[in-house]
Amino acid sequence: MTGPLIEVQGLRKAFDGTEVLRDVSFAADEGTVTAVLGPSGSGKSTLLRSLNVLEQPDAGVVRIADASIDFATFDDLGKGEQKRELAALRGRSGMVFQSHHLFPHMTVLQNLTEGPVRVQGRPADEAEADAHRLLEQVGLGDRASAYPSQLSGGQQQRVGIARALALNPQVVLLDEPTSALDPELVGEVLAVVRDLAGEGWTLVIVTHEVRFARDVADQVLFLDGGVIAEQGGPAVLSDPQHERTRQFLRRVL
Ligand code: ADP
Ligand code: MG
Repeated sequence: MTGPLIEVQGLRKAFDGTEVLRDVSFAADEGTVTAVLGPSGSGKSTLLRSLNVLEQPDAGVVRIADASIDFATFDDLGKGEQKRELAALRGRSGMVFQSHHLFPHMTVLQNLTEGPVRVQGRPADEAEADAHRLLEQVGLGDRASAYPSQLSGGQQQRVGIARALALNPQVVLLDEPTSALDPELVGEVLAVVRDLAGEGWTLVIVTHEVRFARDVADQVLFLDGGVIAEQGGPAVLSDPQHERTRQFLRRVL
C-alpha cells in the first residue's frame, strides 16, 4: 500500500437541506495524528462519524487503507455490495466517543472482548490475552474485573480507548475524548492518547485541547461552517493565517 492511509475527497453531508460538510478533503499518512478543531456545530463530529460511516455522507469518497466507499454512487449498489463495502470500511477504524458508551452490565474485560469475540469471531482466550495487554497499556491492568460504574470518568474513558484498540483497527477516531471529564481527569486520558501517538498509531482526534494538539498533532484541520478553513502542521495553531481561526483560538486558549 502506497500513499496516505486515510484519504477523504469532496465529502458532503446535509441534514434536512442544511449542508453540514461542504466539500471536505484531506489525507493522513500512516502513523500520524490529525487534530480536528473548530467551533461547536462546525461539522467535526459529522466528519469523524463519516469516516466510520456512522453517518452516510451524500457525496465524496472515504478511503482507509484498502477499503473505500464512493458515497455519490453508494445508493446505486446492490444490498450485498453495500454491506461488503460498509463492513470493510468500518472495520478499518475504531471510535472513541465523548462519553465512553461502555456496557454497564459487563466487566471491563468483557467490554474489551465483546467486539472481538462476537463481531470478529476471534477465539475468546486470544481476545482476553489481548484485552489484558491493552488494559496494561492504558494503565488499568488491575481493573479487568471491575464494572464501569466502579471506575472514575477518566478510567472509563481509558477503557473506551482500550476497547477501540481491541478491534485492531488501522485508524483510531476520537471525538472530544476529554470534553465530558472533570478538569483533573483530562490529563490521564490525554497521556494515553499521547502514548498511542508515540507508538505509531494513526489517530484522528477532535479536540479543544489546543496545547495538546500543538504538541502531538502532525496535521491540524480547522473546520468552520462545514469547510476546512485552515489546514497545516501544528504551527498553524501558533500562527493562524485566517481570522476565523484566530478568533476561535482566542476564545479557547
Ligand atoms: P460539531 O461536532 O463540530 O459540534 P456536528 O458535526 O455535531 O458539529 O454538527 C454539525 C451540524 O449538523 C450542527 O448544526 C448539528 O446541529 C447538525 N447535525 C448533526 N447531526 C445531526 C443529525 N443527526 N440530524 C440533524 N442535524 C444534525
Ligand atoms: Mg461534536
